[in-house]
Amino acid sequence: MADVERKGEAPAFKYCESCGIRLMKPSDCGGGDPHNARCKDCCKPDGSYKDKEEVKQHIKKLFFSPDAITVMGERVESDEEAEKLAEEYMKKMPAWQS
Ligand SMILES: [Zn+2]
Repeated sequence: MADVERKGEAPAFKYCESCGIRLMKPSDCGGGDPHNARCKDCCKPDGSYKDKEEVKQHIKKLFFSPDAITVMGERVESDEEAEKLAEEYMKKMPAWQS
């Protein structure tokens, strides 16, 4: 299991290493396991990691779709744009650094 302690201080919260949402309680984490570095939406019900394409769809819906609850930056007009933004976003996440 990957350990995702942020450098330096011990944060009260941790963040999904895959999509960046805040994990506030064990049930937010994949498989309901507080030691899981990813949120439940980036994991399958058993806590194993979803593949990149599935996670991208999650991120797209979460942050970049026209009806996203959280709009990051400008309003997204098209699905293609959302797709592109989600890809860019993922490049900055620890889980998808290569
Ligand atoms: Zn996540």
